[in-house]
Amino acid sequence: MHVARALTELQEHDLAILRLEKELEEMPEKRAILTIRAKIAEIENLRERTQAAIHAMDVVSKRIEDQIAVLGVKMSGEQDKLVSGTIASPKELQAVSMELDALRRRVTVLETELMTEMQKRENGDAQLAKIDAALANGRATEASLTQRFKEHGSDVLEHIESEKRARAALIASLDADVRARYESIRESRHGIAVGSLQGSMCSACRVTLPAGKVSALESGPDVGVCPSCGRILIVRSE
Ligand SMILES: [Zn+2]
Repeated sequence: MHVARALTELQEHDLAILRLEKELEEMPEKRAILTIRAKIAEIENLRERTQAAIHAMDVVSKRIEDQIAVLGVKMSGEQDKLVSGTIASPKELQAVSMELDALRRRVTVLETELMTEMQKRENGDAQLAKIDAALANGRATEASLTQRFKEHGSDVLEHIESEKRARAALIASLDADVRARYESIRESRHGIAVGSLQGSMCSACRVTLPAGKVSALESGPDVGVCPSCGRILIVRSE
């Protein structure tokens, strides 16, 4: 193949690769995945806090239950005294009876507190169920986005691979020094190593060249150098 044509095509493949890589980088699924992952992390955080709150409620409930149990033991002790028939004086009988009433009142207060805690615990469980549903929902969305990302992404990757194969074939057809020049300019000039002379303008840097330089290029070889940007300049490709 004519070197000017090979260089032009090489440039086209490299631009296609850049464009496809950018497309891969900016795939909408990628951003959506990042967004849903952040949301999942937030929900997981909320779940942890809710579980900690539920655990704290359980600790409080357990403490109240223990207090009720202790009072129960005391009450049955007082009741044993009453039925044992060992209490002789009415005064002592009254004292035991008052103590029993006092214990009963304390138990009632604690039982009300326990009911409140249990109600809070139920609300906490309901909250946790909602969080779990939201979490499952978020994870399902993430999975389907990941699937779409893979499908879309693998199409783009395949396209990149075929461009790279075409590029490799062209590169192999070039002389080593042309190849080296192309690669080094491509790297230093944001991926564009080749321009073509369009009238008196370089298509790569869009600079209109002085008439003298243009005529010097036109009377030279097919492939020259742009005096403005230093890229390879295709003067004529046929
Ligand atoms: Zn130029």
